Amino acid sequence: MIHFDSAPPTEPNRHALPIKRTPTGRAIVGIITCHDLIGTNTHFHRGRTRPCTKEDCPACGDGIPFRWHGYVSLWNPKTKEHVILELTARMAERIAEYRQTTGTLRGARLRCQRVNLSPNAKAMVEIGPENVEALRLPPPPDLVKCMATIWNFSHDEMTVNGTQKDLARVDIKPNHALRTFDPQVEPDNLGGKRNGNLIRPA
Ligand SMILES: [Zn+2]
Repeated sequence: MIHFDSAPPTEPNRHALPIKRTPTGRAIVGIITCHDLIGTNTHFHRGRTRPCTKEDCPACGDGIPFRWHGYVSLWNPKTKEHVILELTARMAERIAEYRQTTGTLRGARLRCQRVNLSPNAKAMVEIGPENVEALRLPPPPDLVKCMATIWNFSHDEMTVNGTQKDLARVDIKPNHALRTFDPQVEPDNLGGKRNGNLIRPA
């Protein structure tokens, strides 16, 4: 039997937020919905960003260098779009500073914009308090579970484990069955055009 609803689900899949990078030529703006950012070392490998699983990491095995990326959830009050924003370490440092002074990122207004039109140009970060009382902010997503969904890992393979440079650090345990992926069937949903560099400048 098929059950039809007369309205969209009030609780859409909470672990299926799309991931975004700072766009080229315009700013990304929104209200942060998570309390803290998370981050881990990643590789740009086989055409997409993948987390480093340390032991038995296929990208490490291919000699691909890693770089750290951070993630926050960002909600746009105008479009109601709720996304995960990928941060460079430099961007994350500014956000982590704010987190240290206020105790939470949730409710902060964030604006990120690249300094020029290059897709890998440095992104400037503006973060500050926002009056969110009148806004119905979505509940904070479980960022670790969101990233597990994006990277096609099981949720229990990823944990927040301590801190790295004062930023929450995600550990990813390798799992042969789940780590295999085919870039042909899993399109890179990060948007933007990648260049051939394996390490993108911050
Ligand atoms: Zn690795």
